Amino acid sequence: MNLQSTLRRRLAERRERHLYRELKTLAAAPGPAARVDGRELVAFSSNDYLGFASHPAVIAAQQSGAELGAGATASHLVNGHLQIHAQLQDKIAEVTGREAALVFSSGYTANIGTICALVGRGDTVVSDKLNHASLIDGARLCGAASLRFAHSDLDALERQLGRAAETDGNILVAVDGVYSMDGDCAPLAGIAALCRDYGAWLMVDEAHGFGVMGSESLPAAGSVAAAGLGQEDAPVVMGTLGKAAGNAGAFVAGPRELIDYLVQFARPYIYTTGMPPAVAAGGLAATELMQREPQHRARLRGNIDHFRARAAELELPLAKSASAIQPLLLGCEKTVMSVAAELQQSGFLVGAIRPPTVPAGTARLRIALSAAHSEEQIEGLLEALAESLSAQKAASA
Ligand SMILES: *Cc1c(COP(=O)(O)O)cnc(C)c1O
Repeated sequence: MNLQSTLRRRLAERRERHLYRELKTLAAAPGPAARVDGRELVAFSSNDYLGFASHPAVIAAQQSGAELGAGATASHLVNGHLQIHAQLQDKIAEVTGREAALVFSSGYTANIGTICALVGRGDTVVSDKLNHASLIDGARLCGAASLRFAHSDLDALERQLGRAAETDGNILVAVDGVYSMDGDCAPLAGIAALCRDYGAWLMVDEAHGFGVMGSESLPAAGSVAAAGLGQEDAPVVMGTLGKAAGNAGAFVAGPRELIDYLVQFARPYIYTTGMPPAVAAGGLAATELMQREPQHRARLRGNIDHFRARAAELELPLAKSASAIQPLLLGCEKTVMSVAAELQQSGFLVGAIRPPTVPAGTARLRIALSAAHSEEQIEGLLEALAESLSAQKAASA
């Protein structure tokens, strides 16, 4: 078959199923204010949880970082590793309470690179069914046997660990710390205890935990610290710099040997151009702010609590999430698309999440809260939501 006609047919099929995705082109990214098609909207769809993508200190750091060169000009192992990268890695290790850290170009490649470096043929990866696509792809690509367990179900995890333990290979348990489409936290203390019992290695994806939660002594370290786990219990931690840190890129943090090993064996680290110095400088400034300015985290917390309290009063279909990710499960793709379109009409940009990103029948609006949102903006969104959902209900009754 001809290339274009094959692709046209597949695209048409996707449209028919209400699964076709459209790019929204924004005039500028940062802040809760987004200009789309000439209109100013309030975005509740970004992962800029602390507002750092528009923080003057972060932007200034990026600008001065660019003076070190617009690009790293080579891979890290050739000549693309600068002092600014080393400083960023040291700061991340400090904030996460780990011996060392390594930066990657993205969270997607950090997950794939780390899983493929750590396990392969003869080993087993055990994954939560709702893991992020990058963990799933890593498990597929690495060549190890892949076992999955029902979302956050410790009994199901133990059954899979029992199966994996019948082989001689190593076992890697990979989970999201905070689930990106549901906002709930993994039961990390229980997972770590099972990993200890079965001699499995625990890898936690902190894309949505880093910077926004932690423990008393490591307040920005992420969900692993919030669950009271140290390096012994959770030896492989991946976090991104494109979400709460407001920049781009990612890291793996853990024992010194893990980091030395990844430099040798993580192919997406080795065979790619180093992180641009401006991005490293921006990431460093953001990570320092996570330590120095706890008020951003506190404001986010206040916004989450306020949103949940008001949404409950308005009887919106809230999920069990204590994080910045507050999904409203509507189920049907068409309803999700039409509510999202109405919200956009009312001035709010909200993520409409459909399969295959989430399981069939669980299409949802993904509302992401930020420290940068004002109380009025949250109130405005809630009112528009309540109105749109009751109109939907009336139309389907
Ligand atoms: C966003 C995300 C990633 C990928 O990170 P990028 O830096 O955007 O490539 C990985 N895991 C989870 C859970 C994410 O939400």
